[in-house]
Parts: sequence; C-alpha cells; structure tokens
Amino acid sequence: MNAQIGGNPVMLKQMNKSQILQVLFKKSPLTKADVATQTQLTFVTVSNLITELQNDGFVREMGLAVSTGGRKPLLYGINPDAFVFAGIEVQVERLVCVLTDFENRVLNSRIVAVDSLEGPVFVARKSREIVVEMLEESNLSMDLLARVSVSTPGPIDREQGVIVSPPNMPNWRNVPFRDMIQAEFSVPCDLEKDANAAALGESRYGAGRGVENLIYIIVDVGIGGGIVLGGEVYRGQLNGAGEVGHTLIDLNGPLCNCGSHGCLESMASKSAIERELSGPFGNELVFEELIQRTDDKRVRESLLRSGTYLGAALANLGNIFNPEMIILGGELATGCTLYFERAEAIARRRMLPHFVHRVQIKPAELGKLSGAIGAATIAWQTMVQSLTF
Ligand SMILES: [Zn+2]
Repeated sequence: MNAQIGGNPVMLKQMNKSQILQVLFKKSPLTKADVATQTQLTFVTVSNLITELQNDGFVREMGLAVSTGGRKPLLYGINPDAFVFAGIEVQVERLVCVLTDFENRVLNSRIVAVDSLEGPVFVARKSREIVVEMLEESNLSMDLLARVSVSTPGPIDREQGVIVSPPNMPNWRNVPFRDMIQAEFSVPCDLEKDANAAALGESRYGAGRGVENLIYIIVDVGIGGGIVLGGEVYRGQLNGAGEVGHTLIDLNGPLCNCGSHGCLESMASKSAIERELSGPFGNELVFEELIQRTDDKRVRESLLRSGTYLGAALANLGNIFNPEMIILGGELATGCTLYFERAEAIARRRMLPHFVHRVQIKPAELGKLSGAIGAATIAWQTMVQSLTF
C-alpha cells in the first residue's frame, strides 16, 4: 500500500497510522527511522504520526536504541494496555475463548463444555458470560473490550456474518450469529471459518511463526484446512478454500458426508479409523486410548493406512502450493506419532523432489486454542485497519 497517492487527507492519515501500527505490531521495538524505512513514509510524517498515536495511548516508548554515531534514538512499540479483544471458537460440544491485549498476547483463556444443540441464542449468551468472567478474573474493565471475533464450523457467509449450515450442528441454519454477538457485547464482531482462524493462529503464534506461506490441516471427526499465503488467509471465491478433507483419494472409495466417494475425510479422519476399528473393539475404548494401542496389528494397520492417505493429500498440496510449511492439527495428528510419521514419510516420498527439501511438516502447537487465538488476531487486524483516529 502506498498511502501517499491520491485520496482525501483524513483518509490518508488514517491509512498511514494503520500502516505504522501494523509495522510496530510485527517488528517492534523500532525507531522512527526504522518505521519510515518499513512503511516508505517520510521521517517527518512518521515522527508526527507516532507522536499522535502516543498521545492517544496506542503507542509507547520502549527505551533507547544502540547509537549509530549521534544521540541514541528512542524505540517505539504498541501499547498493550490500549484495548482488549476476545476470540471465541464455537465447536459442536464446547466454547473456547481467549482474551488478548493490543499486542495480541493471550491474557486469559477458557475451554467450557457448551452443547451447540442448545441453539445459537444460548451459545451467544454463554459466550458473553464466559468473556465477562475472564475480564473480571484479569481485572479488566468491559470498556476496554474493542472487538470480538468468532471462529465457527463452516460454511459461513462471511460478508453477511451468517453461519449457513454446519453439518454437525443441525439446528444452526442461516444463523445471523455476528449480529447476535454484537448485540450481546455491544462491540463490533467478525465471523471466520474455524480452519481459517486456526491456520492464522498457528501462523502468527504457533508452529508457523515467521512463515509467510503455509497450509494448516486439522484431522478430527472430519478433515479441514486453512491456507495462509503471504501472511494472510486465502479464502477463495465463496470463502470455501481449504476443503482438504474433500480432495479425492480414491474415486471408488467409501461414501463421504459430502455425498461424494473416496474423499480424504472418508479415508483418513478420526471417524474413518473409528469405523474401521469398531468391529474389533466395539465401544470398549475411547479414541485417545485406541490410537495408543499400536502394538495391536489391526490398530497399527489402520493408522498406517490412513496416515498413507493423508500423506498422499499432503504431497498433492505441496505440489500445488509449494508452501514453506504444512502444519497438522487435531488429536490424531498431534497425539499419534505413528500416524503423523507415516503421513510425513509418504508426503516426502511423493512430493516433487525440488520442493521436498524446503518444506517443513510440523504438528500444531496451540492445541485447542488455535482457532480462538486466530479469531482474536482477526479482531485485532480488522480493528487496526478500520480505526478512525
Ligand atoms: Zn467429501
């Protein structure tokens, strides 16, 4: 963005301030001269705007830089205490909530069992209750809460803020959840698909810190994915990009929830493994225990087979996107070494040799919090981009 070209002066000033905040957010502490270099704005413009941002409480001084000859210049960064954001992830059986500060650091987090079958009104009210409790626990005033973002199972209409028809939440059809959350909290809200939010969370604060181009895949009951290109979520035309679970592995494979046959989800997900092993083990073991029974030949074979299918999908994704990193989330990928290692081995064997040596394949690091942290990141981004100074 070059904010010096065209437009009205007030808008340009806001764009320039937003750009300065984003640079300070990514790379602080920085001197005014550093900020000028990074934003390609003049030193005088940067100096004046940083003073204004400091007076408004958005930016703080952070000590002195090393001298390059003359007087030591002052360092600047974001003032973490300026605002608080809430990231809320709606899952089928629970709510995951985080509070973050203006530097987007996590201040508090909570995972609460909330059944989505209770319906959107109940879940919106419960979300507010949890966030208010967390604010009180952290001795923070509700007035500091600037924005809330919600991560939810798709499909969603992001522009309209509507949850359209999540397959595992049957009584959520065309729910205007953004407006409902805005009404509960009296602050603006954003809505994001869960895998996109988790991909962003992992890219900023988890396994993908510092990586510009990555693919995040969550293996759970289903298989979802999020694509981050150039540090931003790639959403596709209908906000539908990243449906890794419905890439084809076997044209004549088992029936998938989407109506097709042989999708990755129908062959390598938690439910696919449970289906395979329900004969030998019935309901005698919960899934977490089942995937640890790798001394049992049937469990071992099932995990290796599904890991192989995932590896094939990873090889395809690696060849299409040539990412720097592929991150695997969900309890199967992060909790079962046999499955993860088989998927990685197949991916490395089958991806183009030229790409293989430069791609990292890593387990996710934020666990159940990745979606909520990603949502809070979106709240931060949207606010800084739309601030009226
Ligand atoms: Zn499918």
